[in-house]
Formats: sequence, structure tokens, C-alpha cells
Amino acid sequence: MRRSSGEARTWSTKQTMRTEGTNGMYCVCREHVELAIDKFVDEYEDAPDLVNLQTTAFSAWTAPEHCEWCGNPAEILVV
Ligand SMILES: [Zn+2]
Repeated sequence: MRRSSGEARTWSTKQTMRTEGTNGMYCVCREHVELAIDKFVDEYEDAPDLVNLQTTAFSAWTAPEHCEWCGNPAEILVV
């Protein structure tokens, strides 16, 4: 399910709006990406976008350091 790093750089308005809320996104490690996608689809009935936190810079938001569900470094933003 991972997309290319090139595609991950396109940070659209839709995604920015979602990150302004407290819900609607999961910062997870590699192992929990599938779980995050499942939860996202359950909640929003829409396919999430995957953003690589290590190759994407955010101007108005700081990514959490750790995965939502374990202590591993967060690598993927599911939004
Ligand atoms: Zn994890």
C-alpha cells in the first residue's frame, strides 16, 4: 500500500484541513500502517493518503515521534 516518496510530497488542501482536527489521522510505525488504514476506512469510509514523515516537511505541524500503538518511531502519517 505504500506509495512513492514523490507522491507523498503532494500535500493537498484536503489533507491539511484534516490535520487541523484532533481526529482523522494516525502517525504510525511501519508495522502498524495496515492497522491505521483499516481504522481509517472504518471511520471515514474513505481511503487514506499515506505520507512518509521522514521525507515530508510540515510548516505548521509537528509530527509525533512515536507510533500511536507502540513505542516505535512514527514513520508514516495515515490521513
Ligand atoms: Zn507501531
